[in-house]
Amino acid sequence: MRPFTSLDRDIQYVRGVGPRRAKLLERLDIRTARDLLYHLPRRYEDASTISKIGQLETGVDATIIGTVVAKGVLPTRKGLRIFQAVLNDGTGYAECSWPGQPFLDRVIEKGDQILVSGTVRFYHGMQLQPREFTIVAGQGDPRVDVDQGRVFPIYPATEGITHRQIRQIIDENLDDLLAEAAREEILPEGLRAEAGVPSLVEALAMLHRPGSVAESEEGRRRLALEELYFLQLIHARAHLEVTRNRQGIALPPGGPLVATLKRTLPFRLTGAQVRALREIGEDMAAPRPMNRLVQGDVGSGKTVVALFAALRAIDNGYQAALMAPTEILAEQHARSISQLLGETGVNVTLLTGSLGSAEKRRRTADVASGEAQLVIGTHALIQESVEFARLGLAIVDEQHRFGVRQRLALAARGGADTPGRRVFPDVLVMSATPIPRSLALTLYGDLDLTVLDERPPGRTPVRTGLRRSRDRGGVFDFVRQQVEAGRQAFVVYPLVEGSETLDLRAATEEYDNLRAEIFADLRIALLHGQLPSEEKDRVMRAFAAGEVDVLVATTVVEVGIDVPNATVMVVEHAERFGLSQLHQLRGRVGRGAEESYCILISDPADAIERLKVFCLTQDGFRIAEEDLRLRGQGDLFGARQSGVADFQHARLEKDLDLLTVARSHARGLIEKDPALESRPDLRDALEKRFGERAELFRVG
Ligand code: ADP
Ligand code: MG
Repeated sequence: MRPFTSLDRDIQYVRGVGPRRAKLLERLDIRTARDLLYHLPRRYEDASTISKIGQLETGVDATIIGTVVAKGVLPTRKGLRIFQAVLNDGTGYAECSWPGQPFLDRVIEKGDQILVSGTVRFYHGMQLQPREFTIVAGQGDPRVDVDQGRVFPIYPATEGITHRQIRQIIDENLDDLLAEAAREEILPEGLRAEAGVPSLVEALAMLHRPGSVAESEEGRRRLALEELYFLQLIHARAHLEVTRNRQGIALPPGGPLVATLKRTLPFRLTGAQVRALREIGEDMAAPRPMNRLVQGDVGSGKTVVALFAALRAIDNGYQAALMAPTEILAEQHARSISQLLGETGVNVTLLTGSLGSAEKRRRTADVASGEAQLVIGTHALIQESVEFARLGLAIVDEQHRFGVRQRLALAARGGADTPGRRVFPDVLVMSATPIPRSLALTLYGDLDLTVLDERPPGRTPVRTGLRRSRDRGGVFDFVRQQVEAGRQAFVVYPLVEGSETLDLRAATEEYDNLRAEIFADLRIALLHGQLPSEEKDRVMRAFAAGEVDVLVATTVVEVGIDVPNATVMVVEHAERFGLSQLHQLRGRVGRGAEESYCILISDPADAIERLKVFCLTQDGFRIAEEDLRLRGQGDLFGARQSGVADFQHARLEKDLDLLTVARSHARGLIEKDPALESRPDLRDALEKRFGERAELFRVG
């Protein structure tokens, strides 16, 4: 454990605090001197964001700082009481009014210097109705002078203690606290230097007393680097566990099946596919287990890449397994793979739950004897009940339903026992969900990453458009035309976490309406997550077989179903989807030869910009970056489980550089010192932050 230091002392013993304020500060989770040091401003105001009253223009949004020269409560005829204060900043006077808040008369005093933001109006002089105000200095205090270029920190505060009092306490103690914190630098010098961030003490000083907003950002980056580095240490340890510390299988290149597939493939591999196969090939040749994620948009050609890897294993006398999240997808894979394999004579065995029991037993026996060379099935089947003779490669499709733990379990269990030694198969995870690199490194830092960022040539993009709900009639006319031309369509409704019941009701009502009125003469079906899985399967199969013209669905169609005859995707309330989700939905069409369409229906003005970005590009990685930038990391898929949501300082949309450095340093350190014996301080800090997720380090 870290030795008890004076930063651990109770907050009440900090200068200017005492027992009464200590109680109040506890509401802000400030219990020790250290907590106070880490109580950082929630934002900054500086001269560049503050307007002079003399230069205000009506109609614009402005922030001003001025001293209260007059104040009072005015009654109005309707009985509403308005608090008013007149501010002066040396360049002019502005009248601020707070309707219905007479109590402010007891909060704001004459002589206070206050900061207010709001829209400027002109009515017998400059007027402002503040959305927000802050008392930056009391009567006796020195004035805050924004002309000095000073950046003014605004701290989170709570009832009973103002941010001004907090600022004062911090100001008064900061030098002492920083001196004490000097001993707590935990990041290796080399890491900090390469990332180009200041020391802990410098960073905290920059955050509390920045000379400029840019300087506070430098401080943030130091704290962000620490968060990212810690998580990468955990990942690095997991990575080491499944690769170096396990006996894998060396699967060298040069076999006949791979050569045959290369010769008979009806197209040329894309540059990205060649790159991916090189990376995968190096891992497979090495005598330690591969643990790699291949990320690529729908249609980027992941299946072919996976197939080459599988043939490499089979060429070496091992078996390969391909696991899909649903039966339909497993069948789909089996079909397209058998087609590509043509006359190679590879034994492809499909294992699904719907097989008759005799047939299932026969196929399972083939897997156990090694007769079955490439086994395709659902995650559940292959994970739980099947013994392999010699499993060399496990391919997991659509990992976004798969947690780290499950993956580790799979890699551990799949171990093929060749006589006398336990070996572990290579693991290849395929994801059709493009995510920004920074997020991938955070969520899947324990995996090596390969990105398929290139589409095979000759695809026509899905034509994407945005329509108002009042134009819905026209959209449905278009759907009808497509159906009359022999095509099929999806109509998707949002189903958002937290309002599932309402959403489902809305979707069902719309479905009833479409069925009874608009598409009364067409074949139409409903698909949603709460249907029993056999029912879902039945509906999906009917649609795939062309027995349904219009499939009304909630987001369950996201997962990789391939219906080449479907050419229209209509998305209702498109503003309620993330861009990446929309991209997944769009990927359900444009899979055949016919021109395809994705039509978003949306009204809210604030969504239009976002949706326009989506209409203009088909590049899933760009869309994912944009989604991250617009929505922030908290909402991202998987954020909660992965610790991304716990980041207080790291911002994935701008910290990719930090992340890359953090990852390489973390892997370097863990390779040299897996149990962190040379850095007990780091190990303690990890345990404190991650609890049981740091358990790997305890095992040593
Ligand atoms: P993904 O699994 O990434 O969605 P697939 O592997 O299913 O994509 O490939 C989509 C389609 O593109 C398939 O029909 C496949 O045969 C074809 N394809 C894959 N790679 C290429 C390529 N390099 N050139 C042309 N077509 C390709
Ligand atoms: Mg696929």
